[in-house]
Amino acid sequence: MEKLKSVYLQFRRERCFFFLAFIGSTLTGLILIDLLQKLIDTAMILDVGYFKELVLRFLVILGIYLAAIMADQYFLRRLIYYGETALKRHTFVSFVKNHKMVMEQDLGEAVSAMNNDTTIVSFWMSKGFISIAGQFIILLLYLLLMVRYNLVITGITFLIILAVFGLSQHFGKREAFFTGKQQGFYGKINAYLYNCLQNFPVVSQLHNGEYFYRRLKKMHERGERDAIHGLSRFQALNDAMLNFMTNTLPLLTFATGLLFVKTGQMTTGETIAIMLVAQKLNEPIILIADLILDKKNAEGVYGRIAGVYTDMELETKKREVEAFEQIHLDVASYQYPNAGQSALSPVAFEIEKGDMALIQGESGAGKSTIIKLLCRLVDLHGLHGTIEYNGYPIWDYAAKDYYRHMLQVEQETVLIEGSIQENLLLGDCFTQSEIDEVLWTCVLDTFSAERGIHFLIRENGGNISGGERQRIGIARMLLRKPEVLILDEITSALDEETRQIFAGRLMTFKQKYHMTILAISHMNDFDTYCNKTIST
Ligand code: ADP
Repeated sequence: MEKLKSVYLQFRRERCFFFLAFIGSTLTGLILIDLLQKLIDTAMILDVGYFKELVLRFLVILGIYLAAIMADQYFLRRLIYYGETALKRHTFVSFVKNHKMVMEQDLGEAVSAMNNDTTIVSFWMSKGFISIAGQFIILLLYLLLMVRYNLVITGITFLIILAVFGLSQHFGKREAFFTGKQQGFYGKINAYLYNCLQNFPVVSQLHNGEYFYRRLKKMHERGERDAIHGLSRFQALNDAMLNFMTNTLPLLTFATGLLFVKTGQMTTGETIAIMLVAQKLNEPIILIADLILDKKNAEGVYGRIAGVYTDMELETKKREVEAFEQIHLDVASYQYPNAGQSALSPVAFEIEKGDMALIQGESGAGKSTIIKLLCRLVDLHGLHGTIEYNGYPIWDYAAKDYYRHMLQVEQETVLIEGSIQENLLLGDCFTQSEIDEVLWTCVLDTFSAERGIHFLIRENGGNISGGERQRIGIARMLLRKPEVLILDEITSALDEETRQIFAGRLMTFKQKYHMTILAISHMNDFDTYCNKTIST
């Protein structure tokens, strides 16, 4: 978790204030106990003048105590909540940069990692260390205060605390193990729900919500069996033990104190005071036990998502990507993770600058897989063969640099909720003439003139046609003028006439910007323009 420390540097001020307020509230709390003891003992000897003075002191300290507690809680909340959102943002950025992680994860699980797992990690990272340090100081202070009243009682209390920490450590380890399992289970449920919502048209048309419900129920039952059951057991054991201690420790100190009162070694006020301190001791003990558990939970959960933060660093040590000259692919086989066999038959080809190449083959022959391999959109572990860009293996390059030269347009375009312009720019800057040029090339000129460039597209293009969606997807990649453009069935939703017009205009664009194109298309729209055919 060392890597995440930098995320929390911005909260140094909050940490400082929290620590000061925390120590302040504890010290004033202790002074209050001390004053209370004096008040009781003064009341017994009926010294009215001194008693009044003590009451006044008590009220002033009480005011300071309340203010310190409020400040302590305020800065603690800030640390927790702002820390959490900061880590979520950082994780999102890391996730997006680390495309390998996105590729390999189920989307639902990825969102779960970004949203739920980070909450647990941040809970420890934001305030864990400072809280535990503070609580240890408090524990020590309380014990010192108890020593002032009675050494024997303090010794007994100390031994009980040691035993409690030992047991709590043991239960905490098991609790953290099951918390990790619970998070994994939540990730899977998230993925499933995401998948169900994507399938909503099927679910509603076939009226088979019951089927999806039964599958969810089964998943829940498995999660309950594997994680929740164990978690409840160890949480209950831990809580019961801490509760037992909370209730018995003050009584034990009080009873032992009374024995000392009888032998004249302590006053009644001191006995009540030592009982109050023992009562207060519960707080740091419980909190330290909880904080140790938070740390274990955070470490366990971090283990699941550590890859998000790790690969980014490796990417910085890669080869510089030169202007495109040539791609060489020679693949004997490729196996998707967990797949039993190769997704394609042996294939070899070369693409050179300026080519207009077509990949042909039956459905399922591996055309999209070739494209995904070239664009590094699948895990490359299952690859037997070489794929080279300008004579070097493509994994020698950092993905982000590689994509400055090569872009792929997918068959299923994903649009964001926003205007046509926002969907094209996606935060980058282009001139109006550049935008007009790609709109014209993608035969979107009439569409954008009629609706306006600020026409609001609903999430994932819900209010435009499939063909328009596809063409906006192509236009936004053309706008970036990649040296190599890879097209995967991008005209499947277009009518014959639009397809022909688009193919002709795309060739004009290709000529003008010296692009190289590799396309899969069943529609024969690029047949007349292609100079190379690759069969799978
Ligand atoms: P094409 O584009 O030629 O239709 P694909 O490249 O999509 O073919 O698929 C080639 C083979 O790989 C098919 O048998 C397909 O079922 C399999 N395949 C595709 N994607 C995956 C995946 N993510 N995991 C496992 N197998 C896959």
